[in-house]
Amino acid sequence: MKFVLLASLFAAVALESVSGQSPTTNNGEPTYVPQNNFPWKNKYPTPLSVPQIKPEWAKLVNNASVPQAPISTKGPDGALLPPPPGSKDTYCHWSFYQCLKPTDIATCQKGNWAVTYDDGPSPFSTKLYDYLKQNNIKATFFVIGGQVIQYPDLLKRLHDDGHEIGIHTWSHQLLTSQTNEQIIAELKWTELAIKEVIGLSPRFMRPPFGDMDDRVREVVKQLGFIPVIWNYDSFDWKIASGTIDAATVENTIKGWAGNASTATIGGISLEHDVSESGVDIAIKALPVLKGAYNMTLTSQCGNISHQAVYKENMEQENVAPSGGQVNGAGDALAYMKTSLTFGSIALLVTLLV
Ligand SMILES: [Zn+2]
Repeated sequence: MKFVLLASLFAAVALESVSGQSPTTNNGEPTYVPQNNFPWKNKYPTPLSVPQIKPEWAKLVNNASVPQAPISTKGPDGALLPPPPGSKDTYCHWSFYQCLKPTDIATCQKGNWAVTYDDGPSPFSTKLYDYLKQNNIKATFFVIGGQVIQYPDLLKRLHDDGHEIGIHTWSHQLLTSQTNEQIIAELKWTELAIKEVIGLSPRFMRPPFGDMDDRVREVVKQLGFIPVIWNYDSFDWKIASGTIDAATVENTIKGWAGNASTATIGGISLEHDVSESGVDIAIKALPVLKGAYNMTLTSQCGNISHQAVYKENMEQENVAPSGGQVNGAGDALAYMKTSLTFGSIALLVTLLV
């Protein structure tokens, strides 16, 4: 799988460690028991394996009301095949058209900034957790289910430290290339693992590679999740592939801060905490961003209370995602359309971790 080549070394090692194992028995029930001291009640698919849906989860989504967008096809390298030139964006596909809907959280209010970190938790994450705690900065972490069951103590610490936790699927697939049932399995297995560890079910989800269209959106919505994209990509995920160096990523982040006085909207940034280089850059970036923006949380960007980022706490939600986000999403779309060419998007879809 192409993304493994471009994911962090850690993720690649993790996948290597489970390759060749059967994630399920003949009746589809997972057999994997995490090797740690957490008192697991459930068995799980092996980390980063493609999970199968539990029968009871299939009933959570009414397929008749899900848009019939075609399932995206992938090339031999695992990347999405781009639509033919001149194609129309019928289903608001982010990967190729940077299309956002008002229900997507992708920007923050002017002057505000939310940092987000994907693909963890990992043994490298603790250095970042320590820095965030010492400097009283809260962040949002979109976690991989297989990482959660390997490092439950790290997830628990994230929650105890007051950060927000969202779902980043089980096996990091391009979701528009998956069936409705496969999407459900990716999200629900990860939700179950998080719930076992912290006792709460996230409402935020981030599609791997940002790959989402109206079909994925509707499945996500019917499962009770809210998509979170970003409007500032650090491209730190390119370091592992050798196509970018750490200094370039640092300069990118300094550029964000340098433009703060003229930016008409705030930011949600994409970084990763699954490699040592990613964590080191994240730590260098934080004082730069903090000097330019009011550091806030994804919940505020989406007009949701901090407590209500979990399903069990939804009654504490004071303001639903609203019209204010419509403008923000539109601005984000304009930003991304002017800053990313189609070619770079194709590259992004190929490489993004
Ligand atoms: Zn990711």
